[in-house]
Amino acid sequence: MAKLLEGKPVAEKIKEQIKQSVQSLGFKPALASVMAGENAGSEAYVKSQKKVAEELGIDYRFSKLGPDTSEGKLVGFIEELNSDKSVNGVIVQLPLPAQIDYQKISGHICPDKDVEGMHPVNIGKLLLGKARIAPCTAGAVMELLNSTGTDLYGKEVVLVGHSEIVGKPLALLLLDKFATLTVCHIGTSRAGKLEEHVRRAEVLIVAVGKAGLIKGSWIKQGAIVIDVGINRVGDKIVGDVEFEEAQKRAAYITPVPGGVGPLTVTMLMRNLAEAAKAQQ
Ligand code: NDP
Repeated sequence: MAKLLEGKPVAEKIKEQIKQSVQSLGFKPALASVMAGENAGSEAYVKSQKKVAEELGIDYRFSKLGPDTSEGKLVGFIEELNSDKSVNGVIVQLPLPAQIDYQKISGHICPDKDVEGMHPVNIGKLLLGKARIAPCTAGAVMELLNSTGTDLYGKEVVLVGHSEIVGKPLALLLLDKFATLTVCHIGTSRAGKLEEHVRRAEVLIVAVGKAGLIKGSWIKQGAIVIDVGINRVGDKIVGDVEFEEAQKRAAYITPVPGGVGPLTVTMLMRNLAEAAKAQQ
């Protein structure tokens, strides 16, 4: 039976380090958070960001713009935050209304204040192995893997999902650790090859958003399974991996909820503390 790889204890340790680095700054760093439109999911995410920020001595400044906000107006708002010296980091909450292109928006956040690591300059640094910070979810997955004490060098790692926000940055971080990496996506599934790749994974990471996509019977005995997916099924939240069956075969498995999720906000705050330190 697999050990549960819970995010909370890992997050608690990292929070202690963040508290110390915030204290050593000698000022209260500020994170500006911008939301456009209404979304229950991001409202909940904002609430947990605010709570963790307060816990760590970070000033969380939230602004909400209307659902009709134009791209130009949001860019203008971000530029004001870029030039505000009392703001150390900027996060734009997702999803954005349909009229706003997130890639354009993230390119307008000053790279030094980009706490999500999604500005092209920061993605470029990640590619070159020179990034100070990593996109939050990808960073959270790396911390969970690290907490198992597993050396990724030469390991068969299979990553399912290649989104700009999760899969692609995570692929770069895994390659940096010399994992033997296979990246699967919709093309892999359509070619009928997802199962064969998953079956040989010593470390399996799934970030798709489809409940039950990965059958528990596909999991290799003794594998580490990190399930990033979040899916609502009836009144329950589940991941992308069939948990009960997978738990019988894996050595470690993340619960959903309670695995990657609790760490993501902590990684955001660590990125903010790093940004504030670099700006000093
Ligand atoms: P996206 O929808 O942007 O990306 C999903 C990825 O899965 C794409 O690369 C897509 O490929 C691939 N995909 C879709 N269908 C299949 C399939 N049948 N087989 C294989 N691959 C497939 O989602 P995100 O990356 O933003 O998020 C992924 C999941 O992680 C979601 O459930 C999200 O809620 C969750 N999440 C959780 C976080 C946390 O903190 N726990 C944080 C962020 C996300 P293609 O693009 O080619 O179609």
